[in-house]
Amino acid sequence: MDVFISADVEGVAGIASWSQITPGSDDYAVGRSLMVGEVNAAIEGAFDAGADRVVVNDSHSRMTNLPPEQVDARARLISGHYKPMYMLQGIDDSFDAAFFIGYHGAIGEPEAILSHTYNPRAIWEAKIDGRAVGEIGINLLVCEYFGVPVLLVTGDQTTALEARELIPGIHVAEVKRSFGRYSAESLSPSEARKIIRRAAEESLQGLPKPPLLRRAVTMEVTFLVADMASMSEWVRGVERSGPRTVSFRAADGLEAYQTFYALLTLTRSLVE
Ligand SMILES: [Zn+2]
Repeated sequence: MDVFISADVEGVAGIASWSQITPGSDDYAVGRSLMVGEVNAAIEGAFDAGADRVVVNDSHSRMTNLPPEQVDARARLISGHYKPMYMLQGIDDSFDAAFFIGYHGAIGEPEAILSHTYNPRAIWEAKIDGRAVGEIGINLLVCEYFGVPVLLVTGDQTTALEARELIPGIHVAEVKRSFGRYSAESLSPSEARKIIRRAAEESLQGLPKPPLLRRAVTMEVTFLVADMASMSEWVRGVERSGPRTVSFRAADGLEAYQTFYALLTLTRSLVE
C-alpha cells in the first residue's frame, strides 16, 4: 500500500500568523517544527495501517519547510521549488491513497485561518464547474485523474467542511477552530498529532478503489486586478468572462490543473 502526502502548513495546530510560516521570519522555526510534527503523525498512522511506501511532498511556499532529518525516516521527502506539479508533485497512479495535511480554507471564507487559494496576491476566487473551491477542490482534480482517493484532510473547521462537501466519506482531523483570518483556537500539538495519527490509520482500513474520474472540467478564476485576467488570455483556450475573470474548459482534471498552474505562474509577474 502506497500513500502520498501533500503537506501544507496554514492548517497545522498552533499556526496563526504568516510570520510562523514564512522562511526568514522570526517565528519560522516554530512553524516548521509544528508542521513536521503533524506530518510525522500522518506518516506513522499510514505505516501503522500497513503502508509499504509513504511519499511526502512539501507543498508550502518555497517547499523546503520540512527539515529532512526530522521527517520520519521511513518516508521519502519531495522538497524544493519549482515543481511542475506543485502541491501534487510526485503523485501518479501507483498510489493507493492521498492525505492532505495542514490544509486551509479558500480565500473568501469568513472563518479560515490564513485563508488563500494558491496565491493570495493574485487569486480572488477559483471555481470548478460553478462551485467556489479552495486548494482541496483544485488538488482533488489531480488525485481523481490518477484514481488516487483522498482519504484524510487535516486543518480547521472550514477546511473540514470543504473536504466533507467535496469528498463523501472523507476522514477529517479538525485540529483548530478559526475565528477569522488571523486567529484560531488550536488543540495542543500533542493532541493534534494523536488525532491525526489515528485518523490516518483508520482512513486506510478498507481502502476504497475509486474509478478513474477523467471528466471534463470547467474552471473559472477571478484575479485581484484586471491586468492578471488580460495576461491569462495569452494561454490557449483561456477566455475572458469578466473584467477580472477568465474561464477555460479542460478535457480532464490534470489538464485543468496544468492550465491553472500556468495562469498562476504567469500572473506572478504582476504581483506587487
Ligand atoms: Zn501554504
